[in-house]
Amino acid sequence: MRIGVLASQGAFAEHIKVLNQLNVDAVPVRLPLELTDTDGLIIPGGESTSISRLIAEYGLEDEIKKLAGEGKPMFGTCAGMIMLSRDISGNTTRTLGLMDIRVKRNAFGRQRESFETDIPVPVLDDKPFPGVFIRAPLIESCEAGVEVLARLPDNTIVAARQDKMLVTAFHPELTDDSRFHRYFLDMVAGKV
Ligand code: GLN
Repeated sequence: MRIGVLASQGAFAEHIKVLNQLNVDAVPVRLPLELTDTDGLIIPGGESTSISRLIAEYGLEDEIKKLAGEGKPMFGTCAGMIMLSRDISGNTTRTLGLMDIRVKRNAFGRQRESFETDIPVPVLDDKPFPGVFIRAPLIESCEAGVEVLARLPDNTIVAARQDKMLVTAFHPELTDDSRFHRYFLDMVAGKV
């Protein structure tokens, strides 16, 4: 199994580290050619405006969409979730539009720019997941076909799945809990 990790900008090294710890071949992707022979793609957190610009600059958009069209799973964390969304509320940054969700950037305000909180994620198991939020977006709305995987106590949606697309508003790669990565790898393997 080979997983591409979009390495244009942001926290890609951390994702590669988790994948390697799980004995999975991880390829940093900056150019379209590097997507060849990957079984899935992770789009990391960072700055969605920069990631969007670099995807356009390096001609990656069509290749990523082609991969998605072939049913290859994708996992977007934080800014990566923004990139997979269909649109961003009040913002015109170009996204890949591969998931029927509308997101809101920097949604938690100054007081709560960064925080950590345990979130129940029933699809993983009974043990809550340590959610690390850094200037995080939230999912404002989602269409039929999108499965909500996690909410904060106030009902804010912070993780979801639609077919082969998986997103979290938080950063699983910055914790030592690899359950989200393992869940994604199970999607790639066609087990879930
Ligand atoms: N605030 C960033 C954005 O809007 C996302 C932050 C992150 O990925 N940690 O793109």
